[in-house]
Parts: sequence; C-alpha cells; structure tokens
Amino acid sequence: MGDHDPFERLGAAAAERAAAGLARRLRPRGPDTAPGAVDLAGNDYLGFARHPAVTGAAAAAARRWGAGATGSRLVSGDTLLHRELEEELADFYGAEAALVFSSGYTANLGLVTAVADGSAALVCDRGNHASLIDAARLAKAAGAQVLLFDHGDGGAARAALADCGREHRTLLSDTVFSVDGDLSDVAGLARACAENGAALLLDDAHGLGVVGEGGTGALSAAGLRGAPGVAAAATLSKALGAQGGAVLGPRTLIRHLVETARTFVFDTGLAPPAAGAALAALRLLRGDPRRPRRLRETARRLSAELRAAGLAATVPDAAVVSVLAGSREEAVSWAGRCRAAGVEVGCFRPPSVPDGRARLRLTARADLTGEQVDRALEAVVAARPRGAPAAGPVGGLR
Ligand code: PMP
Repeated sequence: MGDHDPFERLGAAAAERAAAGLARRLRPRGPDTAPGAVDLAGNDYLGFARHPAVTGAAAAAARRWGAGATGSRLVSGDTLLHRELEEELADFYGAEAALVFSSGYTANLGLVTAVADGSAALVCDRGNHASLIDAARLAKAAGAQVLLFDHGDGGAARAALADCGREHRTLLSDTVFSVDGDLSDVAGLARACAENGAALLLDDAHGLGVVGEGGTGALSAAGLRGAPGVAAAATLSKALGAQGGAVLGPRTLIRHLVETARTFVFDTGLAPPAAGAALAALRLLRGDPRRPRRLRETARRLSAELRAAGLAATVPDAAVVSVLAGSREEAVSWAGRCRAAGVEVGCFRPPSVPDGRARLRLTARADLTGEQVDRALEAVVAARPRGAPAAGPVGGLR
C-alpha cells in the first residue's frame, strides 16, 4: 500500500463546494414531527406516508411476503402482490398494463434505454428530471442520437422530431416539472409524436394522484388515457406515500420491459412492504377522489397569497409552488428562518437550478388544515429576505 489516498481529491472538492456555499448536509429528522410544525418540503402530497391503512398494509405485506423481494422478479422476487398492484395501477391509470420497479428513477432508466436503442433518436425537454437526463445519457452511450429542446418549446420539439433523420424516434418529457411545478403540453406533444411516428414517454411522477380526474394523472387530464404510442413512468413515493416506481403503457411495451429493461432484469424486485403500502394508498385514493382536488386548491391558495404579499411565486398546475429568492445565500437563510418558525420548505439552488434562479420550493398537501396553511404563509412571508424578487413576470416563472 502506498500512502497516496485516492479519495483525497474528493475532500478537496467538498471543501471548494463548502467555500462556495454549496455544501449539502443530511439532516435526519426524528420519528415525530414537532407539534405544530408544517411540512411543505416533502412529496407526501396526499398524506398517505403515515396513514394507518398504508403503514398497516406495509407491515402486513412484510409478514406475509417478507421484508425484501429476495431476488429479481424474473428469478425469485415475483409475488401475487406485485401482480395485484400492477393490475390495479394499470386500471386506475387507464393503461393496458403496468410494471413496477424499485424506484421511479430505475423505472425511467429502464424504460428509456429499453425503448431507445442505438438506432433511435431521443428528443428531450431541457427541463427534464435528472433520471430522464441520465437515461438519455445511457441511450447516447449505446448509439442513440439525443436532441434537446428548450423547456416547453413544442415547436422546437416538433422540428427536432421531423428533422432528426433516424427511423425510430422517441420524445421524452416530464408532465409536471419538478422544480417550477408547471405542466407540459401533453396533448401537443402527443400530436407532434403521432405526426412523426414517434413514441411519447412521459414522466408522470408529480402527476399521478395529483392532476386529472381523481388524480388519474396527466395523460388522463389531457384526454389521452390508453392512447397508442404513449407510455408513462410514475413513482410510488410521492402521492402514494410508499416507495418504488412504475411504467404504465401498452402490453407489448410492458412485455418488452420485463425481458430487456436492465433496471428491471438485474435489480431486486420491489420490496413487498412498499408494494403493499402503494396498493393500500391507491385504494384510499380511489375511495376518495376529492383528495387531489383539495391538494390543488391548497397549492393555488399558497401561490395566490404569496403573490399577494409581493413574492415571485409560480402559479401551480399541480402541487408544487416555487418562490424565487434573490440569491443562493438568501434562499438558504430564508429556508432556515422558515424552519426555525416551524415550517419546513425545500431550498433549491445551483446546480439543481440555473444560476440566479435559487428558490424555495413549497409542496402542498391534501391533509393540511386551513390553519396550518395560514401559519405556513405567515412564516414564509415574515422570513422573506430583503432582496427577494417581487411578483410579476420573472423569466420562466408565471
Ligand atoms: N421523476 C421525477 C420528475 C421526480 O421528481 C423524481 C423524484 N425526485 C423521480 C422521477 C424519481 O422517482 P423516485 O424518487 O421514485 O426514484
């Protein structure tokens, strides 16, 4: 053994990030939320993560099926519980079939790389989630052509599909973009794909359980339930409060994924407690379709009152409200003051968002009381930094 430490340069890079105010630290929370605290930082949109029917189903699934899946679905990890969850998810979403993965991230990686082989062109919105970006990078390494279009620019997406020169074409887009909370023009993208014989793959991580009638998702909201040539990935870890991911789409595609999606074939199957929890949450959602509406109303109220207080808040299409801060330092200290006042908010800064676009990210929940929303609003407004941009048309923020 020499005395060269190959990890030393990583420590130096961490010190540089810290000096630039970019350090990221874990902050483990205790099992109980402080009394009176309001959580606007997580993605537990419908309040299911701690719902007794959901946690009870997780425990029951662990007892019946085991704490882990024990192997890949194709080897030893497939259970009737997975089958039941996939059938109910497909039925709810209006897709022919569904396949669950160990996370939304692996669902996106597996879906995109299994569809876009070396002969394909992938046309991607620049604002896509990191999991779609990584999926496109993997596809590119396998020979696919990757073309990016500016966020939300449907005309550019259409032109890229028409001009790419490859026979197999696929368009990749989030439905609800996770940082600003805006919704893509799903119907317009579907038309552009249909005109060019292209597949449309959508990431509906923030749409399932949130948008569409009864939370049936962005395809349903766009009148595209079961549309040919279209598939969606979703997560079980946001509105459903569990853990895991899913792909929803035509049966032919799902069969292809079972045999070829590397993050399905080589990954241990979704853990049974997560599958049981997601199934229980899905049944709660179906049992009370008013929850997603309440969630969207709360998001709109948060946005309207922040804007009325003069802050540059996005107008939400789903559950996410983003509020611009003057600078990355101000975003960090603003979030810290909110936390001290008992309100947890997300804080997004470069490199997660472009330079100059640091912001607080607030996520509404269906289970917040009016009084909790009042308290959250009061805390965010009272803690505002002096330099917070004012409401109004701020590039990209509506
Ligand atoms: N897509 C989007 C748009 C997301 O926001 C996330 C989660 N941050 C994912 C995919 C990944 O889902 P999961 O957390 O289940 O891996």
